[in-house]
Amino acid sequence: MKFDPISNRLSLRIAKQWLYRELLSYEEAGRLTQEQLCGLQRSRLEALCRHAKKHSPYYQELISDELLNSSFTESSQFLAELPLLTKTLITENYPSLVIEIENQNNIKKSTGGSTGKPFCFELDYASYIKREAVMWRGYGWAGYNYGQRALYLWGVDSGVSGVKKRIKDTLYHRFYNRKMLNSFAMNEHNMGDYVESINQYKPTIIVSYVNPILTLAQYILDNNIQIRTPKRILTGAEPLHEFQREIIQKAFGCKVMNTYGCREFMLIGAECSQQNGLHINSDHLVVETVNESGESVVDEEGDIVITDLFNYGMPLIRYKNGDRAILSSRKCPCGNPFPLIEKITGRKLDSLRSPNGSILPGEFFPHLLKDIKAIKQFQVIQNRLEEIEMSVVLAHPLSQPDRDHIQQELDRYTDGSLTLSILIVDDIALTASGKYRVTICKL
Ligand SMILES: [Zn+2]
Repeated sequence: MKFDPISNRLSLRIAKQWLYRELLSYEEAGRLTQEQLCGLQRSRLEALCRHAKKHSPYYQELISDELLNSSFTESSQFLAELPLLTKTLITENYPSLVIEIENQNNIKKSTGGSTGKPFCFELDYASYIKREAVMWRGYGWAGYNYGQRALYLWGVDSGVSGVKKRIKDTLYHRFYNRKMLNSFAMNEHNMGDYVESINQYKPTIIVSYVNPILTLAQYILDNNIQIRTPKRILTGAEPLHEFQREIIQKAFGCKVMNTYGCREFMLIGAECSQQNGLHINSDHLVVETVNESGESVVDEEGDIVITDLFNYGMPLIRYKNGDRAILSSRKCPCGNPFPLIEKITGRKLDSLRSPNGSILPGEFFPHLLKDIKAIKQFQVIQNRLEEIEMSVVLAHPLSQPDRDHIQQELDRYTDGSLTLSILIVDDIALTASGKYRVTICKL
């Protein structure tokens, strides 16, 4: 069955029933023990690999019969025998990765990516429904239950769309009881309208990219505006730093929950009520972090590597999505058996370098600048090893003591080897995919 959520409402209804059945089945998995979840993941991984070896020329040689018949009990041991998959490899081997067999319809997706380079992939329709279900389960951990009245402050595709398309989009969102506000179109002149829309719509839940909701929160606090308090705010698409969470919570008067996902897999993990780490959908995805040598690590920062256990249309096995994180061996006191991501640390390029050899992690600047009230928003760009440029949007003039403090802290970590120039700007440009990057290293 072909599914087009926008052009076919009947299919949408069928899809919704299917989605609900999948959601119930995923909810069931939440009652398993951690050991049972590991076993389930391992068997699903093997099934995926058997399918990939049989139908995908790319994996035919890569996945050996010995591996498929191996006695590895852990998914990570099994996966360690397989190479990593990158965006470049996918693009170069696209036809041999795609699986087209009977009764399986693929959906094509593309993403601008933070590098601005377009990237395409596919997934089969059944896995599309499954990932929707998994998303709802994860949102449930964060306090957003399926069907609750929600407002999305989200990037809406740019470009001119016809009236017919707009009506269909509206129907589609109404079906899921949600309203979309285009975060790309928000600016300092129309923020009042956004506040008005929230107050009129009275959402139970707000889902947003980190940066737009943060900007709106600052606007609400600066202007002492009355905003209707939702039950929860869920953020996604960008790492949520603690100082940002505090500002949003203060402005809206509710808990802000972090979620993590990417276009290739949809929702990967979500915070529970503990607000301390994100539970991973480990019965649907295998999430690993790998160190510089490509070894799977836990409790230390590494590159995120993901295997989608259900994308039978284009198996993505050990796909490196470009983000960095720390996986945790900790058990969450909430009782949810799904493993934890301790922290999403962002993209690898977020780190900056200095001539003395030190590496400043992406978190350095948010920490340094969190108490400087004059700075509303900032972005640090490194074009040359000796120099960094910091663009700042100011709430009020930046004092000399604040400037000195920033310089001193920077000197402390780089032995004074980095020159800092501060540029006062009206606006910080977003990436092609509408995300805000705190630091960009072009070295
Ligand atoms: Zn928990």
